[in-house]
Amino acid sequence: STQIHLASRPIGWPTDANFSTVTVELPELSEGEIRVANEFISVDPYMRGRMNDTKSYSAPYALNEVMTGGAVGRVVESRAEGFNVGDPVLHQLGWRDVAQGDASHFRVVKDIPGLPLSAYLGILGMTAFTAYVGLLEIAGLRNGETVFISGAAGAVGSAAGQIARLKGAKRVIGSAGSAAKVELLTEKYGYDAAFNYKDGPVREQLRAAAPEGIDVYFDNVGGEHLEAALDSFNPGGRGALCGAISVYNATEAPAGPRNMSNMITRGLNLKGFTVGNYAEHYPAFMADMSEWIAQGKIVFDETVVEGLDHSVEALIDLMRGANTGKMVVKL
Ligand code: NDP
Repeated sequence: STQIHLASRPIGWPTDANFSTVTVELPELSEGEIRVANEFISVDPYMRGRMNDTKSYSAPYALNEVMTGGAVGRVVESRAEGFNVGDPVLHQLGWRDVAQGDASHFRVVKDIPGLPLSAYLGILGMTAFTAYVGLLEIAGLRNGETVFISGAAGAVGSAAGQIARLKGAKRVIGSAGSAAKVELLTEKYGYDAAFNYKDGPVREQLRAAAPEGIDVYFDNVGGEHLEAALDSFNPGGRGALCGAISVYNATEAPAGPRNMSNMITRGLNLKGFTVGNYAEHYPAFMADMSEWIAQGKIVFDETVVEGLDHSVEALIDLMRGANTGKMVVKL
C-alpha cells in the first residue's frame, strides 16, 4: 500500500520536499480489524499547523509517519462484526490508498443517492459541521441579524453563508479572493453581498457592503479581515474565531488588530473554538443538514484533485485558494 509521510517540517510554505511517498507491506487482518480501500482523502488548512512542532489543540504530525486526516472508502476485507465488504466508512487514517486496523477507528456511513462519498468530508462532515457550530453555538446567531463570513467560498464558508440564512439571518455578506468566487457567493450560495478582498482594503469594502454594521462575524481568515470586522461591528456583536488562514504560512507573527478596544466600547464578544470540542452537537447538525440537502435548500461544491500522488499539491493549492468549496483528493 502507498502512503504519504511528512519527511521534514516546512518553514513558511510547504514544498514537495517536505513529504515522501512510501510503499508498505500490509499484514494479514487480525480478529476485530478491517481493510478499507480509500476513495477520497481530505486536505484541510489545519494540517499546515500540525506540520509545526508546536503545542496546539491537536498533536504535531510525527516525522516519517503518515499524514493523518479525514478519509472515506469502502471495506474490502473484514474480520469485525458490523462491517461488511462494500460498506462505506469514514476514518482519520489519512493519506494512504489502503487503510486498515481495528474497527474502532472506522465509522460506517450511509450511501446517500445523488451524493458522492466525499460529502462526508465536506457538506455532511467536519467542515460544514464547523460552520454550524461556529454560527449557532459560538456566535449565537439570532433571527434578523447581519452576518459577515470571510473565506466565504471555501468549504466552511460556503456552508456558513447558507446555514446563516436558513437559521434566520437577515443579511449575509461574504468575502473571497476572486471575481468568480464573489459571483458564486451571490448567485449560488445566497449571499446578499460579496466582495473580493484583493480589490481593496477589507475595512472599506465591508463598510460599503454592510452600511448598517454587522452583528456576527465568522472568521476564517484573521489579520486584516478581523480588524475590518472589529470596525464594522454593531454594539453587542459576536465573532466566532474559526481560523486564520492568512497567517498559516507566515514566517513572522502578524500584527494584532489595532482596534481591539472596540471590544470594550461596543461590548463585543469574540470566541475561538475547535470543532472537535463540540461533538455533542453533531446529531443536531446531521438532522438539519440531511433535511436541507434532501429539500434542495443547500448547495455545495467540491474541488476534486485526482490521485494520491497529488495530495501535497492539493493541500498547497487549497491554501492558495485554487479550490471552491471542499478540496478533496480522489483515489
Ligand atoms: P477553505 O475551503 O476555505 O480553503 C481555504 C481558503 O482560504 C482558500 O480557498 C482561499 O480562498 C482562502 N485563503 C487563503 N489565503 C487567504 C488569505 N491570505 N486571505 C483570505 N483568504 C485566504 O478551507 P476550509 O473551509 O477547510 O477552512 C476554512 C477555515 O476554517 C480555515 O482557516 C481553517 O483553518 C478553519 N477551520 C477551523 C476549524 C475549527 O474547528 N476551528 C475546523 C475546520 C476549518 P480565497 O480564494 O477566497 O482566498
